[in-house]
Amino acid sequence: MLEGAWRDQAACAGAGPAVFFPVGQGALGQRQAAHAKAICATCPVAEPCRLFALITGQEYGVWGGLDETELRALRAKRRRGRHQGSAPLTGLPTADPAANPKGLLRGCQGVAS
Ligand code: SF4
Repeated sequence: MLEGAWRDQAACAGAGPAVFFPVGQGALGQRQAAHAKAICATCPVAEPCRLFALITGQEYGVWGGLDETELRALRAKRRRGRHQGSAPLTGLPTADPAANPKGLLRGCQGVAS
């Protein structure tokens, strides 16, 4: 999927943003993250969502079924892979997310445009 069209299919479109930004790593935060991941598990656009989070450097929240720690680990793994000559990220939702960040967030994680 290209541009921000993938967001129109986001399973979290009706959920409030608080669901996807757990409060810390404690018991409450873990329950919130598990709830968000359960929604992501039903989402048809989890892959472009995850890629978006990676290329835009999202530091917080659950994206594409991955929490902050998992995204950080995946980002580090990709960085190591890049140094070892692996292919760059492909199939990204947009070529230039910085050009329209507000529009890109529309429909995803309950963020209004
Ligand atoms: S955070 Fe991403 S993967 Fe999870 S439901 Fe929303 S759009 Fe889908």
